[in-house]
Amino acid sequence: MQNPIIEFDRVDKSFGDLKVLDELSFRVDPGERVTLIGPSGSGKTTILRLLMTLETVTPKADPAADGGVVWVEGEPYSHMEKKGRLVPANEKWLRKRRSRVGMVFQQFNLFPNMKVLRNVTEAQVHVAGRSKEEAEQKARDLLDLVGLAEKTDEYPARLSGGQQQRVAIARALAMDPDILLLDEVTSALDPELVADVLAVLRDVAETTSITMLCVTHEMGFARDVSDRVMMFDSGRIVEQGPPEAMFSEPQEARTQDFLRAVL
Ligand code: ADP
Repeated sequence: MQNPIIEFDRVDKSFGDLKVLDELSFRVDPGERVTLIGPSGSGKTTILRLLMTLETVTPKADPAADGGVVWVEGEPYSHMEKKGRLVPANEKWLRKRRSRVGMVFQQFNLFPNMKVLRNVTEAQVHVAGRSKEEAEQKARDLLDLVGLAEKTDEYPARLSGGQQQRVAIARALAMDPDILLLDEVTSALDPELVADVLAVLRDVAETTSITMLCVTHEMGFARDVSDRVMMFDSGRIVEQGPPEAMFSEPQEARTQDFLRAVL
């Protein structure tokens, strides 16, 4: 068995009294494509947000014994090692570690005051420390990959939602992440724009070895692209397996009900 690129070890996450993740454990192999499905509120987005360090785990008294730790690439991620002990990560640690992870959001989140090219170069220059020339070359290559070579000089507001989302994909890939997180990336789009975005992501899946974690209601996409589908309910994994098995012969009643409602 190879070492996992992502490991959740008995992770808890609560918002006030609401327990969103409940002793959640799972592993993802390098290069694996995993789709997270399940009813709204089951904790899927929280998992991506933890990996993006937009949320922190609920700490446990003794992480070495009790878990509650997210690991990425064999190193603690939600925590850091201090004098041989695991303690909650500080901002400096998180900043360094999260550069390995890219995320595409439902609402694109492009910088509205920057042209398309600069949206894709900004973090390359200011976070990765690349030269402007290198960053622009990379941005142009990626914008070409997502079919937007012609749009480098436009402001985001002049693009369709599908085009904006493709810029967001290029922007995430520009930082050469090892892990790409996709959070309902087509759900804010008009139906006729969904196919282009999914085609770009299929391309990314086929031409790179990037590890992908994807929350989606696009079951066709999940079936085509994923190696594994994980069904969540109430912050726990109800059932998981390869898409063929999950979609054609789900074993658990909750998975069957969920799939009946969305398929
Ligand atoms: P899913 O992606 O499966 O729909 P989420 O991970 O977004 O589920 O949310 C799980 C639960 O956590 C929901 O009940 C949601 O309302 C709640 N939640 C998410 N973020 C916050 C927050 N920042 N503050 C309070 N509650 C939150």
